[in-house]
Amino acid sequence: MEQTALILIILTLFLLVIIVGFLTILIYKMFRETKSNGSSPTAASIETPHPDISKSEFHPAIIERLKGLEKVKPKRAELFCPNHSEEPGETMCAICDKIFCKACIKPFKSLHLCKEHLPLIMRYDWDEVVTIKTSTHDPEQGVRLYDVKKEIFEEDDIPTYVETHYKINVDQDYIETYLVLFAQLELIERVREKIKDKV
Ligand SMILES: [Zn+2]
Ligand SMILES: [Zn+2]
Repeated sequence: MEQTALILIILTLFLLVIIVGFLTILIYKMFRETKSNGSSPTAASIETPHPDISKSEFHPAIIERLKGLEKVKPKRAELFCPNHSEEPGETMCAICDKIFCKACIKPFKSLHLCKEHLPLIMRYDWDEVVTIKTSTHDPEQGVRLYDVKKEIFEEDDIPTYVETHYKINVDQDYIETYLVLFAQLELIERVREKIKDKV
């Protein structure tokens, strides 16, 4: 009898050890899971300074706002010289309106011109096509003149440039601004025809 009782006690103890061990492993696993869940977002944001917004776990509204910011960023091509992808663009050519680095643009009279368009200015005679009076109160017409200039350069391949002239109005004590559109002498009539009804 005593022997059977001893065996039963041993078996019970053995079972207890197994149960306690099993429970310990279970508790340890649960603890590890909650710990890793709690710390993973912070760890991810520290490790990746530029998280991929399409894959992130941000709130959808935040993702939308981040995508909006991406659109606002100027494109690389607009920031850098068309001839030197590593040089920042600084000055706009009066003919093509592209922004070039210091090495690629040269001053000529009151203008700045790229290497392609400086010889063009020097080779031909240029004359006034139209003069527009603008003011800060009414910049509309001036904006339109620049739009038309861009249009005839891009669509008709006719180069023109705009000069800004200032006149001091002594009577009324303010400065008048005039925008003057110039074209090659032999193209003036064509340009006049193009800009008719537009400015
Ligand atoms: Zn140019
Ligand atoms: Zn350049």
